[in-house]
Amino acid sequence: MSERIHTPAKKRAVYPGSFDPITSGHVDIIQRGLKIFDEILVAVVENPKKKSLFTTKERMNMIQDFFVDHKDIEVKAFDGLLVEFAKNNNANIVIRGLRAISDFEYEFQMALMNRKLDSEIETLFMMPNLSYSFLSSKLVKEIFMLGGGLKDLVPGQVEKKLREKFKKSTQA
Ligand code: ADP
Repeated sequence: MSERIHTPAKKRAVYPGSFDPITSGHVDIIQRGLKIFDEILVAVVENPKKKSLFTTKERMNMIQDFFVDHKDIEVKAFDGLLVEFAKNNNANIVIRGLRAISDFEYEFQMALMNRKLDSEIETLFMMPNLSYSFLSSKLVKEIFMLGGGLKDLVPGQVEKKLREKFKKSTQA
Protein backbone atom coordinates (compact mmCIF):
# COMPACT_ATOMS: atom_id res chain seq x y z
CA MET A 1 0.00 0.00 0.00
CA SER A 2 1.48 3.30 -0.96
CA GLU A 3 1.47 5.81 1.79
CA ARG A 4 1.28 9.44 0.92
CA ILE A 5 3.38 11.64 3.08
CA HIS A 6 1.54 14.83 3.66
CA THR A 7 3.66 17.78 4.64
CA PRO A 8 1.43 20.66 5.53
CA ALA A 9 2.43 24.06 4.21
CA LYS A 10 4.14 26.24 6.75
CA LYS A 11 1.80 28.57 8.60
CA ARG A 12 3.09 32.03 8.03
CA ALA A 13 1.93 35.40 9.37
CA VAL A 14 2.95 38.99 8.74
CA TYR A 15 3.56 41.33 11.65
CA PRO A 16 3.69 44.89 10.30
CA GLY A 17 4.73 48.05 12.09
CA SER A 18 7.12 50.94 12.18
CA PHE A 19 9.34 49.41 14.89
CA ASP A 20 11.05 52.73 15.54
CA PRO A 21 12.66 51.07 17.48
CA ILE A 22 11.58 47.53 18.36
CA THR A 23 10.48 47.30 22.02
CA SER A 24 9.93 44.44 24.45
CA GLY A 25 6.22 44.76 23.63
CA HIS A 26 6.90 43.92 19.96
CA VAL A 27 9.21 41.07 21.01
CA ASP A 28 6.47 39.70 23.28
CA ILE A 29 3.93 39.71 20.42
CA ILE A 30 6.39 38.00 18.05
CA GLN A 31 7.14 35.30 20.62
CA ARG A 32 3.43 34.71 21.23
CA GLY A 33 2.88 34.58 17.49
CA LEU A 34 5.47 31.82 17.17
CA LYS A 35 3.28 29.63 19.37
CA ILE A 36 0.66 29.72 16.63
CA PHE A 37 2.63 30.15 13.40
CA ASP A 38 5.66 28.35 11.95
CA GLU A 39 7.08 31.55 10.55
CA ILE A 40 6.61 35.23 11.20
CA LEU A 41 7.50 37.83 8.64
CA VAL A 42 8.17 41.12 10.38
CA ALA A 43 7.26 43.85 7.91
CA VAL A 44 8.96 47.15 8.61
CA VAL A 45 7.03 50.09 7.16
CA GLU A 46 9.38 52.02 4.96
CA ASN A 47 7.68 55.38 5.10
CA PRO A 48 5.85 55.60 8.39
CA LYS A 49 3.26 58.38 8.62
CA LYS A 50 5.24 59.75 11.51
CA LYS A 51 8.84 60.65 10.74
CA SER A 52 11.06 57.90 12.07
CA LEU A 53 14.12 58.35 14.25
CA PHE A 54 15.88 55.32 12.75
CA THR A 55 16.23 54.57 9.04
CA THR A 56 14.44 51.53 7.62
CA LYS A 57 17.74 49.62 7.52
CA GLU A 58 18.52 50.48 11.14
CA ARG A 59 15.04 49.45 12.28
CA MET A 60 15.37 46.17 10.37
CA ASN A 61 18.87 45.48 11.70
CA MET A 62 17.78 45.88 15.33
CA ILE A 63 15.04 43.27 14.81
CA GLN A 64 17.37 40.92 12.93
CA ASP A 65 20.06 41.26 15.61
CA PHE A 66 17.63 40.31 18.33
CA PHE A 67 16.26 37.28 16.47
CA VAL A 68 19.58 36.24 14.95
CA ASP A 69 19.17 32.59 16.00
CA HIS A 70 15.60 32.35 14.80
CA LYS A 71 15.20 30.70 11.42
CA ASP A 72 11.46 31.23 11.79
CA ILE A 73 11.66 35.03 11.78
CA GLU A 74 12.15 36.97 8.58
CA VAL A 75 12.43 40.74 8.39
CA LYS A 76 11.52 42.71 5.27
CA ALA A 77 10.83 46.35 4.46
CA PHE A 78 7.51 47.22 2.90
CA ASP A 79 5.81 50.16 1.37
CA GLY A 80 2.32 50.34 -0.06
CA LEU A 81 -0.68 48.18 0.67
CA LEU A 82 -0.26 45.65 3.44
CA VAL A 83 -2.70 43.17 1.88
CA GLU A 84 -0.64 43.14 -1.32
CA PHE A 85 2.56 42.64 0.63
CA ALA A 86 1.02 39.78 2.60
CA LYS A 87 -0.25 38.03 -0.52
CA ASN A 88 3.04 38.45 -2.37
CA ASN A 89 4.77 36.86 0.61
CA ASN A 90 2.46 33.85 0.94
CA ALA A 91 0.79 34.95 4.14
CA ASN A 92 -2.91 35.47 4.69
CA ILE A 93 -2.76 36.34 8.37
CA VAL A 94 -1.77 39.72 9.76
CA ILE A 95 -0.81 39.91 13.43
CA ARG A 96 -1.36 43.11 15.34
CA GLY A 97 -0.67 43.84 18.97
CA LEU A 98 -3.40 45.31 21.13
CA ARG A 99 -2.36 47.42 24.05
CA ALA A 100 -4.62 49.20 26.50
CA ILE A 101 -7.82 50.49 24.92
CA SER A 102 -6.10 53.29 22.97
CA ASP A 103 -5.18 50.95 20.07
CA PHE A 104 -8.63 49.54 19.57
CA GLU A 105 -10.41 52.04 17.37
CA TYR A 106 -7.59 52.51 14.88
CA GLU A 107 -6.81 48.80 14.72
CA PHE A 108 -10.47 47.92 14.22
CA GLN A 109 -10.72 50.37 11.35
CA MET A 110 -7.53 49.07 9.71
CA ALA A 111 -8.53 45.42 10.05
CA LEU A 112 -11.94 46.00 8.47
CA MET A 113 -10.42 48.09 5.68
CA ASN A 114 -7.87 45.38 4.94
CA ARG A 115 -10.67 42.81 4.85
CA LYS A 116 -12.55 45.00 2.39
CA LEU A 117 -9.44 45.26 0.22
CA ASP A 118 -8.85 41.51 0.34
CA SER A 119 -11.34 39.17 1.98
CA GLU A 120 -8.73 36.37 2.13
CA ILE A 121 -6.62 38.27 4.65
CA GLU A 122 -7.47 37.80 8.32
CA THR A 123 -6.20 40.02 11.14
CA LEU A 124 -5.29 38.40 14.42
CA PHE A 125 -5.00 40.57 17.53
CA MET A 126 -2.74 39.52 20.33
CA MET A 127 -2.32 41.00 23.78
CA PRO A 128 1.12 41.44 25.25
CA ASN A 129 2.09 40.77 28.83
CA LEU A 130 0.39 43.32 31.09
CA SER A 131 3.75 44.96 31.85
CA TYR A 132 4.08 45.95 28.15
CA SER A 133 0.51 47.11 27.72
CA PHE A 134 1.44 50.75 28.08
CA LEU A 135 4.72 50.58 26.21
CA SER A 136 5.28 52.20 22.83
CA SER A 137 8.28 53.11 20.69
CA LYS A 138 7.36 56.76 21.20
CA LEU A 139 7.41 56.40 24.98
CA VAL A 140 10.76 54.61 24.83
CA LYS A 141 12.30 57.52 22.90
CA GLU A 142 10.85 60.04 25.34
CA ILE A 143 12.13 58.17 28.41
CA PHE A 144 15.55 57.87 26.79
CA MET A 145 15.75 61.56 25.95
CA LEU A 146 14.84 62.45 29.52
CA GLY A 147 17.68 60.29 30.77
CA GLY A 148 15.61 57.38 32.07
CA GLY A 149 16.82 53.77 31.93
CA LEU A 150 15.27 51.40 29.42
CA LYS A 151 16.04 48.12 31.17
CA ASP A 152 13.39 45.51 30.28
CA LEU A 153 11.67 47.94 27.92
CA VAL A 154 13.82 47.31 24.83
CA PRO A 155 16.41 44.70 23.79
CA GLY A 156 19.88 45.71 25.09
CA GLN A 157 21.18 46.45 21.59
CA VAL A 158 18.41 48.97 21.04
CA GLU A 159 19.45 51.04 24.03
CA LYS A 160 22.98 51.06 22.62
CA LYS A 161 21.71 52.21 19.22
CA LEU A 162 19.69 54.98 20.85
CA ARG A 163 22.79 56.16 22.67
CA GLU A 164 24.77 56.19 19.39
CA LYS A 165 21.99 57.99 17.56
CA PHE A 166 21.68 60.75 20.12
CA LYS A 167 25.44 61.15 20.45
CA LYS A 168 25.59 61.69 16.69
CA SER A 169 22.72 64.16 16.65
CA THR A 170 24.15 66.23 19.50
CA GLN A 171 27.55 66.34 17.74
CA ALA A 172 26.03 67.44 14.45
P1 ADP B 1 4.15 51.96 17.87
O1 ADP B 1 2.65 52.19 17.91
O2 ADP B 1 4.74 51.72 19.21
O3 ADP B 1 4.91 52.94 17.00
P2 ADP B 1 4.34 50.03 15.74
O4 ADP B 1 3.69 50.86 14.70
O5 ADP B 1 5.72 49.59 15.51
O6 ADP B 1 4.30 50.59 17.20
O7 ADP B 1 3.42 48.78 16.06
C1 ADP B 1 3.35 47.59 15.34
C2 ADP B 1 2.30 46.73 15.98
O8 ADP B 1 2.76 46.36 17.28
C3 ADP B 1 0.95 47.39 16.20
O9 ADP B 1 -0.06 46.41 16.06
C4 ADP B 1 1.01 47.86 17.63
O10 ADP B 1 -0.29 47.93 18.20
C5 ADP B 1 1.82 46.73 18.23
N1 ADP B 1 2.53 47.14 19.45
C6 ADP B 1 3.37 48.16 19.62
N2 ADP B 1 3.83 48.22 20.90
C7 ADP B 1 3.24 47.18 21.54
C8 ADP B 1 3.26 46.71 22.88
N3 ADP B 1 3.96 47.32 23.83
N4 ADP B 1 2.55 45.63 23.17
C9 ADP B 1 1.80 45.02 22.21
N5 ADP B 1 1.72 45.41 20.95
C10 ADP B 1 2.41 46.48 20.60
